[in-house]
Amino acid sequence: MAKKAITSGSKSKASPAGPAKRVLKATKPKLKPGKFKPWIPAEVVEVFTRFRNANPEPKGELEHLNPYTLLVAVALSAQATDVGVNRATRHLFPVADTPEKMVELGEERLREYIKTIGLYRTKAKNVIALSEQLIALHGSQVPRDRAALEALPGVGRKTANVVLNIAFGEPTIAVDTHLFRVGNRTGLAPGKTPLEVELGLLKIVPPEFARHAHHWLILHGRYTCIARKPRCEVCIINDLCRWPEKTV
Ligand code: SF4
Repeated sequence: MAKKAITSGSKSKASPAGPAKRVLKATKPKLKPGKFKPWIPAEVVEVFTRFRNANPEPKGELEHLNPYTLLVAVALSAQATDVGVNRATRHLFPVADTPEKMVELGEERLREYIKTIGLYRTKAKNVIALSEQLIALHGSQVPRDRAALEALPGVGRKTANVVLNIAFGEPTIAVDTHLFRVGNRTGLAPGKTPLEVELGLLKIVPPEFARHAHHWLILHGRYTCIARKPRCEVCIINDLCRWPEKTV
């Protein structure tokens, strides 16, 4: 795909010299702080336009049947791969796709379904507890509300962001390990914590791209800007990326 040169645009409020310092620390590049070139809004638009052209309707890779099974799948995915979670939930969800069925299944039998997933004992306990809370407090429905979601056992900000985005179409950005790396390497949203990266992205991502931004960035980190050896030579944003160690 042809890459458009960015030659104009005003300076982004979200990319002052400060974050450059943070990205240096987060990615250990050799560039000096003053050399970091801030992103301008036109470049940000260009990056997300390229992602959109390459993949207009990006999808999450966790299999689910409804908002409830999405919530459970995301809760199970902490420190586990989507592939590993899908392998387990393909057997679990046909028998337990509602809070009531999950509670009826019970913690012990649930453990058997998910025992191939890391931390499965704690996760089984949380899934049963969150299912009980959904029944007791939310009419067995997954609430479209960040505070209510984060009040559920085993549900943190990242899980709430994924559910709000995928199940309800909200423009949230769930920062996982891939997105954290991409935000820092590219310099789009440098940060020492996932929350810093999330808030940095929320400031700069134009509304027209907000719905899918987190999917594009996660997929980019998972398949192109991979941790050990980023595939810079096939990266569709390599001319815009600020990572001093990129290989193009
Ligand atoms: S150029 Fe390399 S480091 Fe930069 S985003 Fe692309 S793959 Fe990642």
